[in-house]
Amino acid sequence: MRQVHVIGAGLAGLSAALSLSAAGCGVTLYEASPAAGGRCRSYDDRELGIRIDNGNHLLLSGNKDAFAYIAEIGSNALFGGPALPVFPFMDIKSGQRWQVRPNLGRIPWWIFARGRRVPDTRLSDYLEVRAIAKIRDDKLVTDAMRRGKLYWRLVEPLAVAALNTRPQAGLARLLGAVLRETLFKGGRACIPRFPADGLSEALIDPAIAKLRERGADVRFNSRVHTIRVDAGRVSSIRTPAGQIDIGPEDAVVLAVPPWAATDLLPSLTVPNQFEAILNLHYKLEADPEGPLAETGFLGVLSGTAQWIFAKKGHISVTVSAANEMVDDSADELAAVVWLDVRDALNLPLEMKREIPPYRVVKEKRATFAATPLQERRRPDARSALSNLTLAGDWTNTGLPATIEGAIRSGRTAARIVLAA
Ligand SMILES: Cc1cc2nc3c(=O)[nH]c(=O)nc-3n(C[C@H](O)[C@H](O)[C@H](O)COP(=O)(O)OP(=O)(O)OC[C@H]3O[C@@H](n4cnc5c(N)ncnc54)[C@H](O)[C@@H]3O)c2cc1C
Repeated sequence: MRQVHVIGAGLAGLSAALSLSAAGCGVTLYEASPAAGGRCRSYDDRELGIRIDNGNHLLLSGNKDAFAYIAEIGSNALFGGPALPVFPFMDIKSGQRWQVRPNLGRIPWWIFARGRRVPDTRLSDYLEVRAIAKIRDDKLVTDAMRRGKLYWRLVEPLAVAALNTRPQAGLARLLGAVLRETLFKGGRACIPRFPADGLSEALIDPAIAKLRERGADVRFNSRVHTIRVDAGRVSSIRTPAGQIDIGPEDAVVLAVPPWAATDLLPSLTVPNQFEAILNLHYKLEADPEGPLAETGFLGVLSGTAQWIFAKKGHISVTVSAANEMVDDSADELAAVVWLDVRDALNLPLEMKREIPPYRVVKEKRATFAATPLQERRRPDARSALSNLTLAGDWTNTGLPATIEGAIRSGRTAARIVLAA
């Protein structure tokens, strides 16, 4: 049986391993850490006594590769979120609240409906947003449309979330790619979905179980230290268990983060600038009748917090494109963000005074910076080595660094291996 060695058990490696095992290949999956998931994982916070995710991850129903993966591992029932496309927002400065509610079908009549579109916007604004889908050059998000109400109240928050890069530096065409596959396909493709319990429970553990069911060899604490190249192909890899020779019919999928990829293969060109994401978890039960009740999340404008999620036993806040704040102390960050949380959630006075117990998770290299320069450094899945294929959210997927991009990259890598 043909053996494929997949290095890295993040979403890209898991998705490659699933496709390869489904096609009948023997798969060995090597993961450096004691658990799978990489940048998308859950863990027990002993001090807070709750299980938390490293960061809030939001999917949209139009993320077709992500939902094909979820169907394959059988975890659809583990996702929550509103039944319809609805995006609630609040402006911290003005106190104004509104919901964006695209209609389900492809013809976007919601932009004519005052109760569904962004307040104080005009039809012509929406035509400008549509034009973002056609951008193919290096235009930045801030140059892609006028900075009116629609920009500040919808496009900017979506761009920061999707690109994890400030719009002044972020590539409009990557945002356009996300919009083309979701919002512009109609409301049915942009229903927000997120794990009801945890990322690992919904996206990672069932994938590992499925791989083992198919006979894959999953090895944790198994960092690949060296990739040996001879005559234009990988001839062996070195793991803590020793050297593994790669047979003439066999293949390697390298699905590690970009910095780990160049450690192993210094000749690769990969993104080398990154953006941080902060996640602040406050131990506080969401009010079942409060602003998070209908949707489970809320977009926040004009504050430090950007998205607030109701999680089991805690409230979790995301701040993306956070390079400028990431070195502030956890206490300072928790205090600043708490000011937004208590206002956004309309907390009663007695709860406003004291910050509940919290955990601040700083992911310094959460994603590559979605700038024109970094985009040019994204390599294709097909490498210069005949039996090595690359996967990861940083490869040339045409999408920003997202779950959808990571899973798609794994599927692409598997297709290349299978076609060889
Ligand atoms: C805080 C945060 C919030 C996010 N929010 C969202 C969101 O809302 N929506 C969304 O779509 N995306 C989101 N993302 C992005 C998403 O998490 C990533 O795009 C995705 O998880 C990347 O998967 P990957 O497999 O490409 O890489 P990784 O997850 O980095 O996986 C690489 C794996 O390789 C392993 N590894 C490294 N070196 C070696 C080695 N030498 N040998 C063996 N194994 C090795 C690592 O341990 C890791 O498990 C978020 C990311 C973060 C950090």
